[in-house]
Amino acid sequence: MSRRLSLQDDVRYVKGVGPKRAKVLESLGVKTVQELLDYIPFRIDDFSRVRRLKHLEPGEKVTIAGKVISVTVIPSIRGRALRVGVSDGTGTCYLMWYNMLYLSRRFYPGLQIVASGKVEWRRQSWEIAHPLWEETGDMPAEGFIVPIYHSKASLNSSMISRIVLQALSTYGHLIHESLPVDIAGRHGLLNQKQAYAGIHCPSDAEMWEKARRTFAFREIFFLQFALLLMRSQNQSAKPVTPYRQFGLPQAFVDGLPFEPTEAQERAIQEVREDLSSGKTMNRLIQGDVGSGKTVVAIWSLLAAVDNGYQGALLAPTEVLARQHMQTVKELAGDMVRTGFLSGSQSAQDKRLSLRLLAEGSIDILIGTHAMIEPDVKWARLGLVVTDEQHRFGVKQRLSLSYDTFAPHMLVMSATPIPRSLALTLFGDLDLSMIDELPYGRKPVHTQVLEERLRGLAYGRVKKEVAMGYQAYVVCPLIREGKSGRKSAQQVFRELKAGYLKDVKIGLAHGDMPRDKLAKEMQDFAEGKTQVLVATTVIEVGVDVKNASCIVIEGAESFGLATLHQLRGRVGRGHKQSYCFMIPSGESGDSPARLKALESIHDGFSVAELDLRQRGPGQFFGLRQHGLSDINIEDLGVTEETLYAARQEAKNLVKAVEKSKQAPPELSPLFGQINQRFGNLLRHARSR
Ligand code: ADP
Ligand code: MG
Repeated sequence: MSRRLSLQDDVRYVKGVGPKRAKVLESLGVKTVQELLDYIPFRIDDFSRVRRLKHLEPGEKVTIAGKVISVTVIPSIRGRALRVGVSDGTGTCYLMWYNMLYLSRRFYPGLQIVASGKVEWRRQSWEIAHPLWEETGDMPAEGFIVPIYHSKASLNSSMISRIVLQALSTYGHLIHESLPVDIAGRHGLLNQKQAYAGIHCPSDAEMWEKARRTFAFREIFFLQFALLLMRSQNQSAKPVTPYRQFGLPQAFVDGLPFEPTEAQERAIQEVREDLSSGKTMNRLIQGDVGSGKTVVAIWSLLAAVDNGYQGALLAPTEVLARQHMQTVKELAGDMVRTGFLSGSQSAQDKRLSLRLLAEGSIDILIGTHAMIEPDVKWARLGLVVTDEQHRFGVKQRLSLSYDTFAPHMLVMSATPIPRSLALTLFGDLDLSMIDELPYGRKPVHTQVLEERLRGLAYGRVKKEVAMGYQAYVVCPLIREGKSGRKSAQQVFRELKAGYLKDVKIGLAHGDMPRDKLAKEMQDFAEGKTQVLVATTVIEVGVDVKNASCIVIEGAESFGLATLHQLRGRVGRGHKQSYCFMIPSGESGDSPARLKALESIHDGFSVAELDLRQRGPGQFFGLRQHGLSDINIEDLGVTEETLYAARQEAKNLVKAVEKSKQAPPELSPLFGQINQRFGNLLRHARSR
């Protein structure tokens, strides 16, 4: 019984976790004790502020707690409503859900719950519509704070909480401090042990906030420190031959069927300066959807070719890669030899590409992740362009730019990110902005529609199709779930049976086999289908100029940035295009949030607004930043924290640069960074 405990232990070693729970935890991304401790609650319910029902006031936001006494369904003007009566012995309050009757299964008389929301006096009683709520088991003692975790039906939040507390008590002593103490001191942060305790079992709301801020600061700091350090090491370690030839890319620009915009010219100029400098290029091109980033990408690739190197264009999806292949062939096909590489190619095609590539008979390789596999050998790779970088994790990007092959790295992103944030997420990159759309684009006519007015949107779809144009319909889900939000499959069926009976409709979502998905996209691109019902698989870069209308169902499920991206799928030519956003049933204040898009059409403004509305967390991407086990989105990062952490990281990297050797007091920090970045950093450091 003298096994040495380690934070890398399998969660199964934690008391209370059997094989079954371990499986569920794994599905939540938790395999080790460390990952369990890093599985942080996204919210707390503060029972210390629970309001007695006899003290309710109309219009107030409150938390109430009590026993369910009745569960009924009543008619209302908004459809049938679920009405759950709760009593705490001093009074009764009714929780209301409209059009969400499936919830009724979760309530039964005697169930102890806590709920929060805005109280109103209606129908002669207190009501809270669409409250947040939790089962509580036995009523907690006064002053108790309950952390709420993302959970599953088979492992609810309070079970997770118990497991985490168990892990903390067994393994807590192994938690080490890796943030330099002077930095923690300057920003009033908790030490690491306190922070874990404070986030999982806070004594009060303030402590929880402080713990959260500590985590947020640490995560940003580590990210920044690593990015900046790698950049500094990479740049000083590796002088590269400056590019001198630019005739080929110039010929490409001269041959374009349109004039580049000023913003495109500027970005090209910035890339040119990088490539001629004798230093490694690490540049991010941010540009709104449709701003014409591809032109800059091709220009750069041709510059590499002109100087005797190979270029690579890496896309996040097969569909996008194929589209790029087509574009490059169209615009520069007679200037260079192109090749294609993707995971779904036949073994034979793949072998051929690999051979030609190694021989140097391919100048520009276009493809997906398949091109970063170790079996890919290049003759003289000089430059990599990564498109739609937000789809790749930071770690993937880093492993590309520093661990592999090409000295020059150009990253393109169509998710405009406010400058302050871009500096944090891409602290290792120089920034070019393409903040101008090609001449003659009309803003997409954008309208938020209530569900009952859905017909207006599909009426427009019908009209556009009748005129020979095409339309997208986007849904938040693939198949029906409990949430009451629309699914692609359901909408596909409904449209086929109703509004769009005589129209050729395609269906595309991420659960389809890859070749089927590609075929659906291809059919739409070729005009074989007129309407494409899809999930956000279409978000990325797809360019079907003939599409003039997009309907977004369940629009409240998406962030503004995503909605803006989706809207960018249309309006790519001179024709007036349309975007309808239909929030599903009951969605609180989200229509107001969405309405902003009716008047704002520029991606950078959308991003600023998103930043103000929802904080910076969501920009860290769909949990795929890949640099920590913590879900940064759940930390409620503020701009102050962001700025402070970045500043500290910058200063420290400067200090490390000056000293020949990393100071010994920083070794826990380097340990932490190495653990997160794996061999990446070691590689960069040893160069
Ligand atoms: P994104 O920045 O979203 O990747 P693309 O590079 O796909 O945008 O460009 C969108 C469309 O605009 C393409 O069809 C492209 O040919 C066209 N385009 C790009 N630059 C210009 C320009 N300067 N003038 C007119 N059309 C352009
Ligand atoms: Mg693009």
